[in-house]
Amino acid sequence: MKPPIVLLAPLHGPTQRELESLYDVHPLYSAADPAGLLAQLAPRCDIAVTAGARGMEAAIMKQLPQLKLVACFGVGVDAVDVAHAHAHGIAVTNTPDVLTEDVADLALALLLGAVRRIPQGDRFVREGHWLKGGMSLTRSLQGNRVGIIGLGRIGAAIASRCAAFNTELAYFGPRRKTDSPYRYFDDIVSMAQWADVMIAACPGGEATRGIVSRAALSALGPEGLFVNISRGSVVDQPAMIELLAGGQLGAAALDVFDREPQVPQALMVLDNVVLHPHQGSATHPTRAAMGRLVLDNVAAYVAGRPLVTPV
Ligand code: NAP
Repeated sequence: MKPPIVLLAPLHGPTQRELESLYDVHPLYSAADPAGLLAQLAPRCDIAVTAGARGMEAAIMKQLPQLKLVACFGVGVDAVDVAHAHAHGIAVTNTPDVLTEDVADLALALLLGAVRRIPQGDRFVREGHWLKGGMSLTRSLQGNRVGIIGLGRIGAAIASRCAAFNTELAYFGPRRKTDSPYRYFDDIVSMAQWADVMIAACPGGEATRGIVSRAALSALGPEGLFVNISRGSVVDQPAMIELLAGGQLGAAALDVFDREPQVPQALMVLDNVVLHPHQGSATHPTRAAMGRLVLDNVAAYVAGRPLVTPV
């Protein structure tokens, strides 16, 4: 008999099809009676699979007393109650490393897009304005000071790309990295005062909620650019919108939002922002590699082997 799995969110298509071919998969997200499905699975289901954006809250874990594994499709597990899981002997896995390069690439695309106003240029051509004259000049990335919030796997990959653009680099995080050549700030506002560009690449969740504060964004200033590839929760979004609209913050390039896919109209109407629909890891090869890690973690658990990428 195939082991039962509760699936909390639809996955990358080929990954989900392979999961369904190997296990008895029960999609909770489309169940007509979710409470009934959980009650039916409670005596026998020890595996849950979810996606980063959906996560898994303690309330659902509590309804599955046999639960031993939550395999998350995504590196960010801020929507999984990891503390509750670990306190109750439930392992959590994620999909680190395989997405790092694509996410860093997108951060640079957003950075360059905002600095050189690429989406605005695209609109300028399409709307026929070029026929009446050239587009206005933009700022340059060359020689800029770039401050990275969270110099982890993705942050470090962003930093090495930025170095190729002759930028000066610094980072903010909970601790100094002794092996990093970049300047360290233990205070985000001080880094914002120093920086021309600030890029968030830290995890979401309660520990980082609102760390990109009104004070930090104000310190970045009217010529400053904020890039967010992390999570919408890390920034004070209402303050960011107000400062962008008032010109106290120069520009923003955002892959992630608070309460996405809802994006406030007040943000949509601004010309000094580049908006992107949370696509950091969304390439065919990376999503396939993330899916492989989810499948490998589930297989390792079922076979009693050590998990591949435990959190
Ligand atoms: P990682 O290797 O664990 O790096 C996270 C970094 O953030 C670490 O350097 C950590 O510092 C730092 N950090 C922790 N708490 C912090 C705080 N309070 N303030 C500032 N920095 C803090 O993780 P990763 O693989 O680089 O992924 C980072 C995040 O990117 C994920 O958690 C996810 O939210 C986001 N992400 C977004 C997308 C997208 O599509 N936009 C895709 C993938 C990931 P220490 O090393 O000192 O602990």
